[in-house]
Amino acid sequence: MNKLIVANFKMNQTPSETNKYISKFLSLEKNFKSQVIICPPFTSIYSFVQNLKNRGIEIGAQNCFFKDYGAYTGEISPKMLKASGVQYVILGHSERRTYFNESNKIINQKIKAALANDLSVIFCVGENENERNKNIQNDIIINQIKESLKNIDNQEIKNIIIAYEPVWAIGTGKAISPIEADDMCKLIKDFINKNYNYNQTKVLYGGSVKSGNAKDLFKMPNIDGALIGGASLDVEEFAKIITIAENFNF
Ligand code: PEP
Repeated sequence: MNKLIVANFKMNQTPSETNKYISKFLSLEKNFKSQVIICPPFTSIYSFVQNLKNRGIEIGAQNCFFKDYGAYTGEISPKMLKASGVQYVILGHSERRTYFNESNKIINQKIKAALANDLSVIFCVGENENERNKNIQNDIIINQIKESLKNIDNQEIKNIIIAYEPVWAIGTGKAISPIEADDMCKLIKDFINKNYNYNQTKVLYGGSVKSGNAKDLFKMPNIDGALIGGASLDVEEFAKIITIAENFNF
């Protein structure tokens, strides 16, 4: 299976910074053989769709609401994203859980709304440092999956990618060891396989991935790719990680 590389720009890049990023990215571009999804802020989605969608790069959003239309000031609906050329949406990111109080119940509503609009979901799960210190990470992850994927059926699961992102490793430079990351990705795959009878779910690792640690992570059998925050903002670093991933494609 080819590795999947997803960029999460978070709340970074003005439209003019995006234009510079895209020009540089296109100048570095060969034929990327890995699947690459870029999730810029909403205000840069148009530029990415216009300039990169026809070059084999897929575009995602970092959030959406769970209604298609209505009096929800400030929200963006999955229907709007789909109509703007977006194919993926990140849901359940730990920053949304922490700063915007998104519960598993809200994430579940968002996942259903995204799938109903024919978007694929990059669903994030992860334990915090305290939970890891108490060694309860497996229970935390399984509970996040059970609650957030409530009433998702065996067909819908095919449009969900899961990103395992230990919260303590996000943006901290403290990546988990490849063996521990692999164990967690396997736990997730086994759960999905057992409960949905589906063994093709892609599980990514996210948390301080850089070109320096990508190779060791990508060689693990249960890590299907990476969700990359900080390092994706540096276009050369991001291209390096994509190239590293290509060596593991078969
Ligand atoms: C993320 O925000 O999903 C992430 C993995 O960030 P970083 O790569 O910066 O740790």
